[in-house]
Amino acid sequence: MNKTALSVWENCLSFIKDNINTQAYKTWFEPIKPVKFADNVLSIQVPSKFFYEWLEEHFIQILKVALTKELGEGAKLLYVIKMENTYGNKQPFTEKIPSTNRASLKNQNVSAPLKNKSPELRNPFIIPGIRNVKIESQLNPNYNFDNFLEGDSNRLARSAGLAVANKPGGTAFNPLLIFGGVGLGKTHLAHAIGVEIKDKYPEKTVLYISAEKFIQQYTDSVRKNNRNDFIHFYQIIDILIIDDVQFFSGKAGTQDVFFHIFNHLHQNGKQIILTSDKAPVDMQDIEQRLLSRFKWGLSAELQHPDFETRVAILKNKLYRDGVEMEDDIIEYVAKHIKSNVRELEGAIVSLIAQSSFNKKEITIALAKQIVEKFVKQTKKEISIDYIQKIVSDYFQMDVSTLQSKTRKRHIVQARQLAMFFAKKFTKASLASIGSQIGKRDHATVLHACKTVNNLSSTDKQFKKYVEDLHKKITL
Ligand code: ADP
Ligand code: MG
Repeated sequence: MNKTALSVWENCLSFIKDNINTQAYKTWFEPIKPVKFADNVLSIQVPSKFFYEWLEEHFIQILKVALTKELGEGAKLLYVIKMENTYGNKQPFTEKIPSTNRASLKNQNVSAPLKNKSPELRNPFIIPGIRNVKIESQLNPNYNFDNFLEGDSNRLARSAGLAVANKPGGTAFNPLLIFGGVGLGKTHLAHAIGVEIKDKYPEKTVLYISAEKFIQQYTDSVRKNNRNDFIHFYQIIDILIIDDVQFFSGKAGTQDVFFHIFNHLHQNGKQIILTSDKAPVDMQDIEQRLLSRFKWGLSAELQHPDFETRVAILKNKLYRDGVEMEDDIIEYVAKHIKSNVRELEGAIVSLIAQSSFNKKEITIALAKQIVEKFVKQTKKEISIDYIQKIVSDYFQMDVSTLQSKTRKRHIVQARQLAMFFAKKFTKASLASIGSQIGKRDHATVLHACKTVNNLSSTDKQFKKYVEDLHKKITL
């Protein structure tokens, strides 16, 4: 399709219009006339030098983004300053660049009334090629696909990740959301995808960022009054990886800004990769419009690795560290530490450390000692989320059902049990438990705890629920 100055500018305008307030748009963009488009240079006519300076000062970013979006990296913009009628309109503006037409303009404008010495064209400003704005990927090369071992627990997520890495933005997996509990490899896999893309497509701009840092940057940008710069920065990324998006929960401003960034990237075929400790259905205090976008692509779960995978991960780690260890010790550790890979690695690291500091041989007895310590620590870290998950799984309902306002008896009971165990196993206050389990107040939680105590001593079936759940939660 042939691009004309008008078509290019109209496309830029429709993007700009969406991104600045109406008044600013009317004042600063409606008066602009596109006058020429050639060799990827768009010339726009503005009514004064002041106008030009104002644009440069306040709207350069958005102009840059709009033009680059429309014309690609090499796009340039040229201003043609045309003073209001003062010069007489016989001769329309000239839109060629500096030296040559300086003379011609002077000839016509014998009596330029304004102080501006050079109402002629300013030097064109060159849109800094986005490639020149080097963005550090923040990727950790130690987290790659080679050392992300495959198992049943991660096969889907891992292969989706590979597919995305081969064709970022070009698969149905956009966004790719990787979710799963702590220490199951979300961060590792997210980096691995980025590292692989950087390797295959060095020219692409990849950015890894934790959700916490993203929130921090956003808050700073609001404080410093450059929220737009923040948005524009993110809009030029080709592959955006945000780790732990559950932290967006309850952060309305961040969610709003991310919504716009997300739309922009997605519309432009850029790849988005997110990780979260929960599936989208279980995420709380995240706006519906964002949640629905999280589900556009693929949500792939990282599950608890099975025994074989745990052994493989341990062996791989030992091999990379150049440590030898008897198979039965490795298997002992793999058998007893099931909850997550981080702990698995932690246990083996302490085992190695213990044996080398104390010059002890690595024996099953030593392994046992260390594993016990790890398992105990894990128990202390039961979270309210985890309890809600166990309880709702047990009663075969979604966490959202458990938290809902319904008064149906079996759901109320499940909710009360979750509150009871949250009180028992966490240090959270009644108020905090209430707010996390369906936004109830502290009195409701207190009442729930009493009810569970009463029912367990009077109702046999109920007592069994409590015992089963107790076992499951502390497993
Ligand atoms: P998460 O982000 O889900 O909490 P991480 O990505 O930080 O988990 O993983 C915790 C540790 O476990 C990291 O050291 C990571 O390298 C390791 N790990 C997790 N899954 C695997 C795997 N499949 N193969 C090898 N190492 C893994
Ligand atoms: Mg992580």
